[in-house]
Amino acid sequence: MAIATINPATGETLKSFEPLKDAEIAAKLDLANQAFEQYRKTSFAQRSQWLQKAAQILDQEKTDFAKVMTLEMGKPYKAAISEVEKCAAVCRYYAENAADFLADVEVKTDASHSFVRYQPMGIILAVMPWNFPFWQVFRFAAPTLMAGNVGLLKHASNVPQSALAIAEIFQRAGFPEGVFQTLLIGAAKVADIISDDRVKAATLTGSEPAGASLAATAGKHIKKTVLELGGSDPFIVLASADIETAVATATAARMLNTGQSCIAAKRFIVEEAIADRFEKLLLDKFLALKVGDPMQPDTDLGPLATPDILQDLDQQVQVAKNSGGKVLTGGYPMSDRPGNFYPPTIITDIPLDAPIAQEEFFGPVALLFRVPDIDAAIKLANATPFGLGASAWTNNDQERDRLISEIEAGAVFINGLVKSDPRLPFGGIKRSGYGRELSIQGIQEFVNVKTVWVK
Ligand code: NAP
Repeated sequence: MAIATINPATGETLKSFEPLKDAEIAAKLDLANQAFEQYRKTSFAQRSQWLQKAAQILDQEKTDFAKVMTLEMGKPYKAAISEVEKCAAVCRYYAENAADFLADVEVKTDASHSFVRYQPMGIILAVMPWNFPFWQVFRFAAPTLMAGNVGLLKHASNVPQSALAIAEIFQRAGFPEGVFQTLLIGAAKVADIISDDRVKAATLTGSEPAGASLAATAGKHIKKTVLELGGSDPFIVLASADIETAVATATAARMLNTGQSCIAAKRFIVEEAIADRFEKLLLDKFLALKVGDPMQPDTDLGPLATPDILQDLDQQVQVAKNSGGKVLTGGYPMSDRPGNFYPPTIITDIPLDAPIAQEEFFGPVALLFRVPDIDAAIKLANATPFGLGASAWTNNDQERDRLISEIEAGAVFINGLVKSDPRLPFGGIKRSGYGRELSIQGIQEFVNVKTVWVK
């Protein structure tokens, strides 16, 4: 895949980049390794000061960074602004809390003094996706750098300008040279980098094949990985729920980032008693969404990030139709205009056991299922290889407790939209991956948990 900025709203190639040559990659690895030797000795207070400065740069220049993201992958500009603000927030969160999260923990044993100490590991490789070009990177970088590690970023090939802008932010914030670097390389080079002795661990956010490939190479070299992969999150609405709020949230949860979010609600599972009403209200909401130029402030849905994503999504929609699905709205690419536009789409009546019902639809397509009761709702929610998030709607305490304990997912949100929050751990189970980002769990993924015993 070429490393280039191609505007998804027009198809125009705006800028192309030469991938790094082997000698340039080697030089960056050397630099990262040297940087770690000094950086690991810096204090939390010093790192925190640099990270606060990064937050300040993000806040002050958010319009510039937001434009880069919208141009590269087509997210609505207003959402891009919020993304930059969230990056500033995660920097501040770890700048303020990392010292407490990684403080020595005393443990009483037969020693005169025993405790746990958290120490940095070294170079951590991050392989990141294009869908939240800034947020995905900052939620890795803020805890990783606060822990005293150094970062190497291999970003998705369609967001090179975002990748370069992020490295520049850390450099301007005052982090020593080599502490955070962007590598403009294709996916085929990742295996060599993770195999290098100096690289100690890796994290990947992206698809299952990419995650499996990275983890296989890391496993061969006995290196730790964190994987944040896909999801086919259920959005369950039971008859006791506040339906109006559920429908409004369902629309936002499906259309977030033009439907290209791992934690977007993808399968809407509704109790039969309220299904007709839910379906009608959801259709009204979808029909009211404005699809168009992502730079315009009133645009709800921009283009999909690449022509391949558009094609894959449409292919899935056709399979859903051929499996018995009924299209209530949308269901075809918007070929009357340039760019990768797909309209809001609702598909009902897919047989529950059709293989397509378990897949992840990475775009503005909602699959709507009707179930007789909570037992069937939970069974269907869990009938997918994924286990990232789940949103469930009820006003009944017993139902709520069952949903919390019986849904197989890394997160369950009751009467709310699944979202990431720096204060809460984020990650999945099953084929959605393993390990956690954010919160205290996130910063403790890439550290040596050293046991100290003194007599
Ligand atoms: P992708 O193809 O897996 O790309 C993600 C990153 O992995 C890119 O940097 C890509 O580089 C790289 N990559 C691709 N194949 C690789 C390989 N064999 N070895 C090493 N690196 C490789 O993912 P995508 O399809 O663009 O992104 C969508 C997927 O990501 C969805 O499934 C979505 O749910 C998931 N996602 C998950 C989360 C989460 O937090 N759980 C968040 C966002 C997205 P190139 O661009 O150079 O190919």
